[in-house]
Amino acid sequence: MTEIKKLPKRDEVPVALTWDLTTIFKDDAAAHAAMKQVENKISSVLKFKGKLQESSDSLLQVIQLELAIQNDLEHIYVYAELKNDQDTVNNKNQALMDQVASFVANVSAKLAWIDPEILAIPEEKLAKFQAEDAALRPYSHFLEVLQLRKNHVLSSKEEALLAGASSIFDSSSKIFGILDNSDLKFPFVKNAEGETVQLSQGMYATLLQSTDQEVRKQAFQQLYAVYEQFRNTFAATLSGEVKVHNFTAQIRGFKDARQAAMSQNAIPETVYTNLVSEVNSHLDLLHRYVSLRKKILNLKELHMYDLYTPITGKSPLSYSYSEAKKEAKQALQILGEDYVSHVQEAFDNRWIDVVENQGKRSGAYSSGVYGTNPFMLLNWQDDLENLFTLVHEMGHSMHSYYTTHNQPYQYGDYAIFVAEIASTTNENLLTQFLLDKYDDPQIKLYVLNHYLDGFKGTVYRQTQFAEFEQFIHEADANGEALTAEMMSDFYGKLNHRYYGDAVINDPQIKSEWTRIPHFYYNYYVYQYATGFAAASSLANGMTSQRSQAREKYLNYLKSGSSDFPLNVMKKAGVDMTKTDYLEDAFAMFEKRLNEFEALL
Ligand SMILES: [Zn+2]
Repeated sequence: MTEIKKLPKRDEVPVALTWDLTTIFKDDAAAHAAMKQVENKISSVLKFKGKLQESSDSLLQVIQLELAIQNDLEHIYVYAELKNDQDTVNNKNQALMDQVASFVANVSAKLAWIDPEILAIPEEKLAKFQAEDAALRPYSHFLEVLQLRKNHVLSSKEEALLAGASSIFDSSSKIFGILDNSDLKFPFVKNAEGETVQLSQGMYATLLQSTDQEVRKQAFQQLYAVYEQFRNTFAATLSGEVKVHNFTAQIRGFKDARQAAMSQNAIPETVYTNLVSEVNSHLDLLHRYVSLRKKILNLKELHMYDLYTPITGKSPLSYSYSEAKKEAKQALQILGEDYVSHVQEAFDNRWIDVVENQGKRSGAYSSGVYGTNPFMLLNWQDDLENLFTLVHEMGHSMHSYYTTHNQPYQYGDYAIFVAEIASTTNENLLTQFLLDKYDDPQIKLYVLNHYLDGFKGTVYRQTQFAEFEQFIHEADANGEALTAEMMSDFYGKLNHRYYGDAVINDPQIKSEWTRIPHFYYNYYVYQYATGFAAASSLANGMTSQRSQAREKYLNYLKSGSSDFPLNVMKKAGVDMTKTDYLEDAFAMFEKRLNEFEALL
């Protein structure tokens, strides 16, 4: 008899396994009341319109009011967003999210005059203001970052127009999200135990790790059959998104969307091009690893759905959620007592939404704002992969924790460019911890394989995504239509170049772009690859020279956006304008690949 496993409804999930959003707002009514209060603050800030140049004091007051309103908006937004993500099919949550999104757009439009007006202050005058008023000093880097945009800010009228249209610009990614998270219905398939399970994004990842090739094949084919059915819709949403990026870059006077995205954090484009060329010159290592995979799995044909199953068979390690919490704390011990005490705080105070339920957003993330807990969303399954996800998201949340507790609001967030370093350093530390802890060659092999797969998925795969992203942005800028066919055609060839001849380039993989949410994030993915490589360097430093490296590392976690990302990382010990850190990461990959081969 086969048992049908269905996901629980949201209200069937045990409270202890859900996040506590009442720490942001007691209830929806409180969120609505907060919106009312924002309206009042807006009227105070509007009194300064046109008067910013008059004195350093009016400049200071406007900056402080603007930041206070921003922080209020963030609280309201994150409350609505997390609530919606926990149950995307709940109409009440959807309605609140919609309402909040348009409220935020509305308020942004009302404040859109501020930045252009600050930027219109002549440089000498701004310098004089800062020199004569000590109260402005904590905002000097904030003003410096704003100056970077000087040549790219439009008139107040145009800025207001753009800000008011922001929710329209967001439609493509919003439609993608709704289709991907709630409307797509996946069929039932058999898992390795012969049970009938409903395919979902979380379940797909688990099934692809199955040691039974037929299970993997079915999951792969069934999943792509669903996506392919909607490929033209996905092409339309992705094309719409790319047009927003290109249009925005163009009207703001950037060379292209990539320059626009990277210049926000003063990151030179060579960081991107260095990554792509370094990865391409090390594709031989990926090909070697993939061929090894084929040999060990003893398969006549290695398919795309065979790339995620552990080469070393079924996992010798599996963790219930409570076991995973213990293991995570031990692995992160190297970061010090203080760090681990905050990890415990996350476990004890319901910062984490743990298990999957009907309508819950797929994947995992860490999210919170200045003044809220750094929450985490998981879709827990009892395996090693999920332990890695837990320490990954914990890395983000601890980064947020340290930043918001050590910086003022204006520097209390951090650029995405440095964000993935905090999370993947934890993954690297967990890898080293497990390799040290276990002598059993079966376990060592499994962990090494996990690392090699992680490197493949983060450094190689995300750079592959980055190349695709570059292609679609360029094609659109050149006036080519982004149809499903042309994108699939490019993607298929790109995939073959990355994985080489040892893998069958299954036709379904051409459509992989349809299901990658990150293509809607605007030059986001390359940062996973650069971040992982930098993290590899940092974790290595901490395991070899401990306390000094740890202190530098914690300093990076505490820095927030008080300096430009590349400077923050330089102080932590990695110069990301050079290629050394990438070379180091590939050297580690090669070393562990050799270890892996030797153990076999
Ligand atoms: Zn992450």
